[in-house]
Amino acid sequence: MAERLLIGALKGGKNTKIVTLNGKKMTKMPSTLAKLPGLKTLDLYNNLIPKACPEISALTQLTVLNLGSNLLEEVPEEMKYLTSLKTLHLFRNRICRFAPGACDGLQNLILLNLNNNRLTQLPREINRLKSLKLLNINHNQLTSIPRELCFLEHLSELHSNYNQLICIPEEIKFLKKLQKLFLVRNNIEVLPEGICDLKKLRILDIAGNIIQIFPPGFQNLKLREFYCEDNPLFLKRPFVAEQREVIWSLKEITSRFVMNELAKNNPILMDAIEQYPEVRNIISEGKNCAICGKFFLTIWLECVHFVPPSKNWKISKNLQLVPLRVLLCSYKCFNQRDPEIFGISQE
Ligand SMILES: [Zn+2]
Repeated sequence: MAERLLIGALKGGKNTKIVTLNGKKMTKMPSTLAKLPGLKTLDLYNNLIPKACPEISALTQLTVLNLGSNLLEEVPEEMKYLTSLKTLHLFRNRICRFAPGACDGLQNLILLNLNNNRLTQLPREINRLKSLKLLNINHNQLTSIPRELCFLEHLSELHSNYNQLICIPEEIKFLKKLQKLFLVRNNIEVLPEGICDLKKLRILDIAGNIIQIFPPGFQNLKLREFYCEDNPLFLKRPFVAEQREVIWSLKEITSRFVMNELAKNNPILMDAIEQYPEVRNIISEGKNCAICGKFFLTIWLECVHFVPPSKNWKISKNLQLVPLRVLLCSYKCFNQRDPEIFGISQE
């Protein structure tokens, strides 16, 4: 039947630019497609197609392919021949994997819509989609985002609502053009500090996760819209931290000494440290105290600093104050803290 439907299109011969065959109950792609090498748009939305046909590889001029609402179980390998493709709709299929090599030729793809599928992970090869600006992966079963995704330098919108993400890679900071990030209804507990480096980010929606506190610097994001309903955010109330002085390990004492002397440009230590890469490794994990600015390694007091959200943010009604994570080096600093900083009880 599909072949018959294409006869009309074929009358236009090699000049045919658009083929639309929606809702025709087609169970396979028409192999006659190979005779339309100049085709620009192929719309096979809402059929019963379980896989791509090999003939599609002739469509090297194709810029738009809609295979939404079909029965595909994988992102077809044949996609790699569609080197002009800019828009690829694969939403509402049964896709649970990418065929090997599927991403190889898609260096011009701008929009990839994989909403409503069964993906549990994205392949590392996603980084071959060099031109990608919009990625829709809502309503899948993703538990993680590969760090390779963070190297798509043109990505401006990532829609990953209704997945099972636990965390976001720190490398998200490399998505310098990201403007919209949607992470509604996942299982995210902590946002990476790298999110604070996203200078172009304007819309962030993290409603329905398990976030209690935001990374330091979060309040400086230039957001226009920020939604965070249904998260167990820390609310401002006097926390009573159990004040029990911890005995520092020798490693902690030494590391603090070394890090703080290096910060003062102590010439003897600066020379010596060159000889000890393992020490450099250890102290690279050091963090700053939010009160005194000195360094510490593994022993700190976790506190929450409540800051008013930026006036330019359009925000969720539940958010009067943004709880930010701050770390202090000692009880000495804890006792000198800003009145807006509260200890977090660890029990
Ligand atoms: Zn301190």
